[in-house]
Amino acid sequence: MFIVSKSLIGLNSKKTTRNKTSTIKAPKGAFFMRSMERSMAIIRCPKCAKSISDKHKQCPHCESNIAELNDEQVLQLQREQRIKKKQMFLNHSFLALILFLGGFFCLYFLQPQEETLQWYAYTAAIGVGCIWYIINRIILVTLKKKK
Ligand SMILES: [Zn+2]
Repeated sequence: MFIVSKSLIGLNSKKTTRNKTSTIKAPKGAFFMRSMERSMAIIRCPKCAKSISDKHKQCPHCESNIAELNDEQVLQLQREQRIKKKQMFLNHSFLALILFLGGFFCLYFLQPQEETLQWYAYTAAIGVGCIWYIINRIILVTLKKKK
């Protein structure tokens, strides 16, 4: 009876310690990131996303009071920034797609003679549109991974 209760206590204490470490882990990582940023002394303004020194109480670019913002407000602003950025790249990739398709359809339906100004323009539109689209897609994928 005594042994059983001892083992039970042992199990319980193991469980609790495991729970403790798992709950502590996440904030530890966040703290590490913060201390890294602090040692580098360069942070990003939560409002305009420009790099500034963490010694600034006010952002020199957009003049927002960083010191007055709490963690939740900072997170919210960062989230808004990420959405804005994503939207911008989505718009860009859409424009690139239009450029690509426009050039392609013009070349296909108007069939300008090769090496004329029109032909160069349509071919360039296809090339630029294609590259622009791919670059934007890659950026969007990396933005998603960062999350
Ligand atoms: Zn700013």
